[in-house]
Order: sequence, then C-alpha cells, then structure tokens
Amino acid sequence: MDIMQRMSAEGHEQVTMFSDPGSGLKAIIAIHDTTLGPACGGTRMWPYESEDEALTDALRLSQAMTYKSAAAGLHLGGGKGVIIGDPHSDKSEALMRAYGRFVDTLGGRYLTTTDVGTTGRDLEYVRQETRHVTGLPLSLGGSGDTSIMTGLGLYMGMKACAEEVWGNGGLRGRTVAVQGFGKVASHLCEHLLEDDVRLVVTDVYDAALDRARDMGLEVASPDSIMDVDCDIFAPCALGGVLNPQTIPQLRCRVVAGGANNQLLSEADGEELHRRGILYAPDYIVNSGGIINVEAELGDAGYSPERAREKTERIHEIMASVIRTSQAQEISTAAAADILAEERLASVRAVRPVHSRCR
Ligand code: NAD
Repeated sequence: MDIMQRMSAEGHEQVTMFSDPGSGLKAIIAIHDTTLGPACGGTRMWPYESEDEALTDALRLSQAMTYKSAAAGLHLGGGKGVIIGDPHSDKSEALMRAYGRFVDTLGGRYLTTTDVGTTGRDLEYVRQETRHVTGLPLSLGGSGDTSIMTGLGLYMGMKACAEEVWGNGGLRGRTVAVQGFGKVASHLCEHLLEDDVRLVVTDVYDAALDRARDMGLEVASPDSIMDVDCDIFAPCALGGVLNPQTIPQLRCRVVAGGANNQLLSEADGEELHRRGILYAPDYIVNSGGIINVEAELGDAGYSPERAREKTERIHEIMASVIRTSQAQEISTAAAADILAEERLASVRAVRPVHSRCR
C-alpha cells in the first residue's frame, strides 16, 4: 500500500519527512487529526530497521493520540514524531535542534513532547528552535515528568475496573501482576501499596528488579509473569502483548496497564471480552501523561491541581466505557472507540457560521 492509501485508510491529515544530513537527522511527523486542536504527541527515537517500519509506527501512534485526547476530553488532536536512530549513540544537540527547526515549520499544527528514547533534556534543545513543544522540565517552567500522572490515572482506571468486578471492596487485598517496572509502573505501585494490594512484578532490567525488591515486592521472571495467578494483569512495558499466543495464558479477571497499543489487533480486544476478562483500554487509562502536558499549555501556566483533577476523572471515564460495553454488548475496546469517535463527530458537526464581513 502506498503512503497516500495508508493515510486515507486511517484518516491521517499529513505526513512530513525531514532530512538534515549535517546533523544526521531523519525524521517523520504524522498528524492524524486536528479536529479538537493542534496535534500533540511525543517524539520517539528508535533504531528502526527500515523507513517503512518508522512510518508505520508514526501512523499508528498518531492515530492512538487522537483517540486518547478525544476520550479524555482534551482540546488536542493526534500526532507523533519519530526520529530514526539509536538514542544512545546517535543523539546530539545538533540533531535535536535540527528536529526543533522542522517542528517549527509546521507552524503549531504539531506540538511535540517526550516519548521512548527522548528526554526532558532533548526538549530543552528543541525549545531553542521552536515554541511548539510541551512537557518541558520543571526547571524550565514546564510540567515535568509525565509518568507521575500516568501512574495516578492508571490507578484510577484500575479502581473503576475492580469496583465493577469485585464491588465496593475494589482493589483492597487483590493481587496485581505488573509487566515492566519502569516509571509508570513504579508510580502505579505506590498507589496500590496504599490499598494493601499484593504486587508481583517483573522486568528485563536487573536494576529495576533490585528497586522492586528494595520496595519489598515479589519478583517473577519476565517469561512467567503472564502465568502468575492474579486478579489484575498490568502490562506496563511494551505494545502488542495481548495477542493470540498470550491471551490463553492469562489467569486474571482484569487487564489494566500503562503500555500503549497493548492489543496486537482489534480481534484481541474481542477475544478478551469473549473470555470474560475485563480489559481497560490502554488509551483510556494511560492518558494521565497527555492530561499533564495539556495543563502546561495556555496562558494560565501549569497547574498540578488542574492536571490531577482531570486525571482523577479517568475513574468516571473508565466506568462509562464499561457501561457502554454492557449496554451494547460489545467489548470495552470497541466501547472506548465509540466514546472517542462520538466526541470527534460532534465537534466536526459544529455548524460553520460567518463571524465577519469580507
Ligand atoms: P520505562 O522505560 O520507564 O519502563 C518500561 C520498563 O519496561 C523498563 O524498565 C523496561 O526494562 C521494561 N521492559 C521492557 N521490555 C520488557 C519485557 N519484555 N518484560 C518486562 N519488562 C520489560 O517506560 P514508562 O515511561 O514507564 O512507560 C511504560 C509504558 O507506558 C510504555 O509502553 C509507554 O509508551 C507507556 N506510556 C507511558 C507514559 C508516560 O507518561 N511515561 C504515558 C502513556 C503511556
């Protein structure tokens, strides 16, 4: 399929490719939909094996950002930047500044922030070249580490699922198996410990496991985490972890995690539903980060209280996704898509009116 066909198949507005041989920059920015506001999404730096792989990632992730912001009630569209390269060896000030200049050429249609392989330090360089950047470090007047709000939002979404399945007892005394003990998972676990939840965690990185043991958590091997007998499985590492091979392994009633694009395909959401496993759609429960970043935009400046209040609403949004799923007898993944698509459609339908004479 050529690029135009792929764009029209999923409704992407714009895909721009940038090359700067001097700094070694090769980047793609995909803008999926700007109905609700400027496209916003992080910039991922990854050693993609091909340009096609990078393009696919940009298209898929930018669409997910449209749905995430729409469902969270934010005034942002969906976009994503990808830089082709190894973040450990190919990154430099020149490369990030070159990237910032290219972001600037889009005139504010795309706002960037961090993602896998990019950090607040990189954003400082990008900020030298463009103001169309958000999620800056606290020292620059920004909103800082997004994973704090992402962890809180995930906890709120998990609570809504637990209340549905186990009634008012909610999370108290449950067992949660966590795949990936990075930033989001760590913040999630702090909340869960306050609810006396038993935690079993895994990671492929030894230092993360040491940190988990220091917190007194049980540790499992990466290969066995899906076999852990638990109430909730929380994927907090990679995408595509819910697929025809892994779903039959699950021994839980709920899946709720922070990782993006957990379902390998739409059919996997249906299969979880068929098996009676309550799936918390990833873009519903991991939207705390983009909510935090949105709270930095606008004239009032960043307000942690505003960000927190909006993030706590994820509890109600997740509960409404469950209600739609039950009322329409569809999967929660399909119910979440309806929520996002209805908001987009309602704003698209606002009648254009003349506001001034020519
Ligand atoms: P992170 O890099 O801090 O943590 C990810 C952890 O997963 C790492 O410790 C890594 O070693 C581990 N890991 C990787 N592969 C693994 C595997 N196969 N098995 C077990 N562990 C594995 O990243 P993060 O910021 O915590 O983000 C986690 C996930 O949440 C990512 O998918 C990210 O895209 C998504 N997410 C993050 C945010 C945010 O605010 N940081 C917001 C929305 C979504």
